[in-house]
Amino acid sequence: MIDRRTFIKAGTIGASVLSIGGLATAGGAGARTSGAINKPIVISTWDFGVAANRAAWAVLKNGGAALDAVEAGVRVPEADLSNLTVGKGGYPDRDGHVTLDACIMDDQGNCGSVAALEHIAHPISVARLVMEKTPHVMLVGDGALQFALQNGFEKEQLLTPKSEAAWKAWLKEGKYEPVVNIENKSFTTDKLPGNQYNHDTIGMLALDSDGNLSGACTTSGMAFKMRGRVGDSPIIGAGLYVDNEVGGATATGVGEEVIRTVGSFLVVELMRQGLSPRDACREAVERIIKKKPETAKEIQVGFLALNKQGEYGAFSLQKGFSYAVCDAQQQDLLVDGEHVF
Ligand code: ASP
Repeated sequence: MIDRRTFIKAGTIGASVLSIGGLATAGGAGARTSGAINKPIVISTWDFGVAANRAAWAVLKNGGAALDAVEAGVRVPEADLSNLTVGKGGYPDRDGHVTLDACIMDDQGNCGSVAALEHIAHPISVARLVMEKTPHVMLVGDGALQFALQNGFEKEQLLTPKSEAAWKAWLKEGKYEPVVNIENKSFTTDKLPGNQYNHDTIGMLALDSDGNLSGACTTSGMAFKMRGRVGDSPIIGAGLYVDNEVGGATATGVGEEVIRTVGSFLVVELMRQGLSPRDACREAVERIIKKKPETAKEIQVGFLALNKQGEYGAFSLQKGFSYAVCDAQQQDLLVDGEHVF
């Protein structure tokens, strides 16, 4: 559970944070007014990002590397059995298998990824080993599991009684159809994938005290997805992208639309062109709307970005997307993100 957290609307963040940290609203949350780089800092998606950030902060505050921080951070929701969309305890696919997707990227442009990984509770750590120990970027399915077991990871049952019950209830409704809306009921923004009843991916970005950036992204993916479905989260450039010259970005929500727009790469490239993190995220969201205006009204996608100066921002299609921020001024900040619809 979250305690001591601060809940701030993005539209009003400037005034309260400004007085503490020299930050302003111009260009979105976390824009700087002075020339100083705001480091170290870690940001991550959703309210469970608050607890994850704390673990990352324990690394960053002691001068640790952003890469170590993001791995330590996202392992927290991966291990949290009450979290139904990340790691162990995540909702299964429509055949009852919990399949996990994750990726990680460092300041050197190195990256590692696993997709459709079963039986391993910490896919992010397997992704890091793919990056560090193999000549490849991505391992999937049985090959990813084999690699994990060879490297000392333990095989576990990831389906908890709670997630199994939710899956069985969903099956009983007789809807063995791929779902985009987890509830598969009439449209309400609250029940969209990625919104408050269906929190999904944790994406985390960190800038360490040496000024280096890294990112991590991990999820059990869309609930009751088709067997073999892989979303954006383990796809470098879609669910996560980091360029140490510019900044990093991560995504949550309906992964298909994020992949179609190569969303996180797009956000980083927009920042390279001079956009603030908030404006870059907004532009990427607008791209989804432009490509699929009708679909965009009925799904959730959110982007979160951090630049090389430690400025951050986010934007989503629908209301309900929040993100957590942790730096020297604030350890438990939860920001209610801006949205289009
Ligand atoms: N992006 C994830 C996926 O499509 C899920 C989410 O973040 O809502 O698998």
